[in-house]
Amino acid sequence: MTLADRDLQAIWHPYTQMKTAAPPIPIVKGEGLYLIDEKGKRYMDMVASWWVNIHGHSHPYIAEKVFEQLKTLEHVIFAGFTHPAAVELAERLLKILPSSQQKIFYSDNGSTAVEVALKMAFQYWNNRGAEKKKVLAFNNSYHGDTFGAMSVSARSAFTQPFEGLLFEVEYIDVPTKDNLEALKARVSAIGNQISSFIFEPLIQGAGGMLMYEPEPLDALIKMCRENDILIIADEVMTGFGRTGKLFASYYLTEQPDMMCFSKGLTGGTMPLGITSCDSKIYDQFLSDDKMKTLFHGHSFTANPVACAASLASMDLLLSEQTQDQIAMICRKHLKFAESIRNHEKLKDVRVRGTIIAMEWNTGNETSYFNNLRDELYNFFLADGIILRPLGNIIYLLPPYCVTEEELDFVYGKIKEALARF
Ligand SMILES: *Cc1c(COP(=O)(O)O)cnc(C)c1O
Repeated sequence: MTLADRDLQAIWHPYTQMKTAAPPIPIVKGEGLYLIDEKGKRYMDMVASWWVNIHGHSHPYIAEKVFEQLKTLEHVIFAGFTHPAAVELAERLLKILPSSQQKIFYSDNGSTAVEVALKMAFQYWNNRGAEKKKVLAFNNSYHGDTFGAMSVSARSAFTQPFEGLLFEVEYIDVPTKDNLEALKARVSAIGNQISSFIFEPLIQGAGGMLMYEPEPLDALIKMCRENDILIIADEVMTGFGRTGKLFASYYLTEQPDMMCFSKGLTGGTMPLGITSCDSKIYDQFLSDDKMKTLFHGHSFTANPVACAASLASMDLLLSEQTQDQIAMICRKHLKFAESIRNHEKLKDVRVRGTIIAMEWNTGNETSYFNNLRDELYNFFLADGIILRPLGNIIYLLPPYCVTEEELDFVYGKIKEALARF
């Protein structure tokens, strides 16, 4: 039996209709931008393995640091105990996060980072004896797949089977110059019931790499603040250089109360989640009353090996070489976008930092289940390029180690696809 056959006997894959899906591609090695299958075929990982990988696969420096950590301390309970990697990572992160952020809470993935932020927000009000049970979120948002994270995500095919089980959320459109006044009116009308406002700053990833501008977001955040709404920036996808700055929140002047991280946090090496918060949040849980404790924790909270990977990833990220690479990718994406901007097959081309998205004109509604999606996916895959279109939207979100030549090759294939589909 092949590896793919054995896989199908034993495994249930994420976001996969197991009855009709093509067999999975068995990857046996990763090397920089490339994933290599059993037969030696090389694939360019242009989606950074679901947006997590920022320095390329099997990075030797991260591997070395992880190995050292594994030989020293693989794991320790994080209630009542601590360890050097968790402390150093928290200290170094707080130095590069917006200055409002004062405390680091560890968990192990993006959804849990969001759950923790929501629980902090709900309990913040509870600890103050206030009733605030709703959350404000954007249409087309995505914040994860656990129940709380799903609740604050847009209602969609993904959440339909769980309708009625998700808590109440007020949805608004992302802010623009034009709708800002209407949004403000809505926020002030419902503000007293709203505990927190959660958003993906500047780019709604799973929603289709939808992009919006920082200025109206700043105005909306300010309005939320005036209405006593806590601010949660979900930077699970946008963090660690994706938008061209270290964090998307650096495009804003208003700082969040809480921030969520995962994905690029460990360079894409292993699972780790972080929820950071300001002292306003943290202080509300300090009490002689034990009931005001944040009762949340995971078995693998602050796993030392994941923290070591994250520290190594931060060394690489802050290096001049990586910063130059990020600038190069931003520049090239913008230039390529200009070259196809008025293409008749495209409804839109958008760029923010290292992410470029192209929306095909399909005539009808954008749909995750669009046939075009599979055709495009297979077209690129045949040429050894991994793109995972979101319906009729294709996007590049490469590891920062991608070269100019590799980008040019992929841009060329996109132009071929434009001619063909
Ligand atoms: C991917 C993602 C999440 C969920 O992270 P997981 O690690 O997949 O649970 C949450 N928020 C945003 C913005 C994401 O892109």
